[in-house]
Amino acid sequence: MDKPTKGAPVREWARRFMERKGARKKGTVIAGAAVIVLLTVVFAYTEVSRTGYKVSINGTPIGIVKEQQMAMEVMDRLDDEMLAEDEGLVLTADLQVEKVKIDKTKDNLLDEASLERELRKNIELRKKAITLCIDGSPVVSVIGMDKAQNLLERVKEAFMPEKQEVTVTQVSIKEKVDLLDNPVEPEEIMDPEDAYKYLLNGTTESKVYTVSRGDSLWGISQKHNISVEDLERANPGVDPKRLQIGQQLNMIVPKPFLTVVTEEIASLKESIPYETEYKESSEFYKGESIVRVAGKYGEREIKARITRENGIETGREILEEKVVKQPVTRMVAIGTKPPPPRQGTGTFAYPARGRITSGFGRRWGKNHNGIDIALPTGTPVKAADGGTVTFSGRQGTYGYLVIIDHGAGYSSYYGHNSKNLVSKGDKVHKGQTIALSGNTGRTTGPHLHFEVRKFGVPVNPINYLKE
Ligand SMILES: [Zn+2]
Repeated sequence: MDKPTKGAPVREWARRFMERKGARKKGTVIAGAAVIVLLTVVFAYTEVSRTGYKVSINGTPIGIVKEQQMAMEVMDRLDDEMLAEDEGLVLTADLQVEKVKIDKTKDNLLDEASLERELRKNIELRKKAITLCIDGSPVVSVIGMDKAQNLLERVKEAFMPEKQEVTVTQVSIKEKVDLLDNPVEPEEIMDPEDAYKYLLNGTTESKVYTVSRGDSLWGISQKHNISVEDLERANPGVDPKRLQIGQQLNMIVPKPFLTVVTEEIASLKESIPYETEYKESSEFYKGESIVRVAGKYGEREIKARITRENGIETGREILEEKVVKQPVTRMVAIGTKPPPPRQGTGTFAYPARGRITSGFGRRWGKNHNGIDIALPTGTPVKAADGGTVTFSGRQGTYGYLVIIDHGAGYSSYYGHNSKNLVSKGDKVHKGQTIALSGNTGRTTGPHLHFEVRKFGVPVNPINYLKE
């Protein structure tokens, strides 16, 4: 390594100093990287005798040396030392050497050791790196342009649609991204893997929850103060209804720095919703409605241009459409028939049609207060006449029982139901379904026990059933 000879013009030396630096780094130097050691030599004084060199770093004088060469040698040594450590390191300091006249009575000359100590104190170490700037703000720095570009590719890939029936036609990043080739403080440099996670999640923090017995997404969200939607977003591909014990959930909600915009052409099958048509019908009472035809979804095949931002659909343009199956319109009949009076008409209708298995009167030495009609469980039981429900609930041997007061001293009983459909106080009309038959209470099989009472005294229903 050639050092400048004594008396060689300082400018020439500086030029060679810089040249040598460049030459040594060839091969590892990233294009455009700057060596920021600025060397300025100022000729302030031309007299040769009793001259020295004032050394300043970043504008602050640190002392005077006898030989300008010494400053260069020390600087050079530091430079070598640093490069031996790491080829990517860059010294940054504005070193100024100024020729001055020495006043021996006042000025103390710096020896080499003191000069080196001062230089070490003031020099800053930087490392060559590529900094990803997003909309003008530096976000991550990595070593190597290839690594930086790869990082962007990986982020794009992370949001690429994966389905086979999809053709991706465009991928771009919404934000303005600049790759800045500039030395940075070494601790700012990230490992490419960390940088990738950081760009995707907005943080390098990771927090994992292990699913244990009885956990639900909702329960976990409550315990950890994170919404279910966020949990789903943090765990794409996890089926919230099928959490497995021991499964690991990511608890960090991703806030990507970049927005990847994709455009895809997709062939999809879609369901077509059905319409509902209402039609008035005198078959049913006012206030009633009956579904005559159940609606069915249709199906269509579409070709669409879908745009997404970070995987979330933001726009859809249908390019082609083919209906595979027409939807079936749901048909609902709305009753118009005036309802019968909700009071006694004086005549009774059969509450249900079935075989009468037991009549009114004495039976096995006991009084039977009504008639038994054999019915499969779940058969609608209808009010024998209009009136007001005075009881609906469970009552001893009757099981589920409904009692209706018809006025004029008449009431009717409906026992052994599987389910009562009316409540105490309800006004019911003749023929209205009030319960579903069953086998509750004391029975030997599913049937309806039906009673008619006059002023509380059971009478033979057969004498009152007209219809
Ligand atoms: Zn009975």
